[in-house]
Amino acid sequence: MITASDALRIISENIPRAPLVTISVDDALGCTLGEEIIASGNIPPFDNAAMDGYALRAEDVASVPTTLRLAGEIAAGHASSLTLFPHEAVSIMTGAPIPGGCTAVVQYEWTVRPDADHVTVLRNVPEGHNVRKQGADIADGSVALRKGTLVRPQEIGLLASLGRRYIAIHRKPRVAVLATGDELVEIDKRLLPGTIRNSNAHLLHALIRQAGCEVILSEIARDDPDELRRKVALCLQADMVVTTGGVSVGKYDLVCEAYEHNGISILFRKVKIKPGMPLVFGVRPPVVVFGLPGNPVSTMVTFLKFVRPALDLMTGRGTPGKKYQLHARLAETIVKSDGKRHYVRGVLVNDPDGLVVKPTGSQVSNVLTSMVKADCLIILEEEKSRFNAGEFVEIELMP
Ligand code: AMP
Ligand code: MG
Repeated sequence: MITASDALRIISENIPRAPLVTISVDDALGCTLGEEIIASGNIPPFDNAAMDGYALRAEDVASVPTTLRLAGEIAAGHASSLTLFPHEAVSIMTGAPIPGGCTAVVQYEWTVRPDADHVTVLRNVPEGHNVRKQGADIADGSVALRKGTLVRPQEIGLLASLGRRYIAIHRKPRVAVLATGDELVEIDKRLLPGTIRNSNAHLLHALIRQAGCEVILSEIARDDPDELRRKVALCLQADMVVTTGGVSVGKYDLVCEAYEHNGISILFRKVKIKPGMPLVFGVRPPVVVFGLPGNPVSTMVTFLKFVRPALDLMTGRGTPGKKYQLHARLAETIVKSDGKRHYVRGVLVNDPDGLVVKPTGSQVSNVLTSMVKADCLIILEEEKSRFNAGEFVEIELMP
């Protein structure tokens, strides 16, 4: 049995990168940038007004109130050839280019109009006031986005502002899902005595999609050696195979045999964690294979802690997982004695003194309702056996 960190190390040493493809920026949500984005122009492209008001020379309003002659009006979207003479101002709209000679924009609220041709400025403003300088956000030729960046809506907006219609991304990994067990029936079939619904397949599809990846095949296999071998073989057309069930020590836990029969080298079979101890990882390059335990909570926790980081590596994302880790105070004492790393389903409460985390009830691995109530996992390290109420623990948000 190996530790969770050793398991993650072995996984990360064996994950190939998905190949690069070029796609439209509008299809890139949830993908990972496969190229460095170098700005081919300035953002903003020209000096412009940050507010509706009057563009002027800051030195003309050093002592206020002072009245300036109005030389015209500039709206957003219109280039201006105007150059201001001393003691002149021009009415300007947000986003409109700053005319020559102007060094500041005073907002309407700080002015009055004695007549149609003049404006009286009531407050003085420093040079640069309300002026958005060319290139202040992104300078021409600079790195706007790093390779490996997750493309979120804000990255799409930035790429569009740079005029990037197409970008290189790592192609979405294609995942095959194989649920195993004689007891499984599809969710729309009647339950016969002794059967349960194949909830894991649906749970996994959602987790895979949430990770920005694609399910290309979803199968159920009976606990039958031939059927398992056949279905595992079918799944090997994907970049990654995720099976559930059949990896503990029961008489019908035949999944590892079906892996080996298909030339998959098993790199570990058990991890010192709870839930999810019988976790299998294997490779048949370039395909990687995860055998997750069958209980739904074990399936979900092992996916989040081991499969998701593997998918992040495939898509070229940097150190996976880290950004969701926070610390919170425990609402109640937890005692454990098995030397395993525990992932406890928790719910966060925003207490006036900071974040407090509370376990969501029964932690047995078939109870999905305590996962439904949870918004995070509380991570309890291997060596320690007592975690006191009020103590800070590591938590990981479940988006
Ligand atoms: P196993 O690892 O095959 O021994 O399964 C452990 C537990 O998880 C058993 O109670 C199974 O019935 C249950 N289980 C296995 N596969 C699924 C599945 N696809 N959906 C829901 N429960 C499952
Ligand atoms: Mg089974």
